[in-house]
Amino acid sequence: MLHSLKPEHFVIPQHLRTPWECPECQRNFLFGQGVMSLAHYRVTDTGEIKQGLVCFCSTTCLLVWEHPEMLGLIQ
Ligand SMILES: [Zn+2]
Repeated sequence: MLHSLKPEHFVIPQHLRTPWECPECQRNFLFGQGVMSLAHYRVTDTGEIKQGLVCFCSTTCLLVWEHPEMLGLIQ
């Protein structure tokens, strides 16, 4: 499991003020005010499951996004 959810620990400072859209609820927020986590996603074209750093507007959206089985995999 990652030790930090703070975007400033993963992205360069200039990007923290980038407008971002939450992949879960589609709410707009600034990158620096979101939470980051290693998350799983399915590539639409191939159906392949991949994982990568994803920025959400809140920890609630992060937990809703991740299927419970996948949360077990990344701990
Ligand atoms: Zn959200």
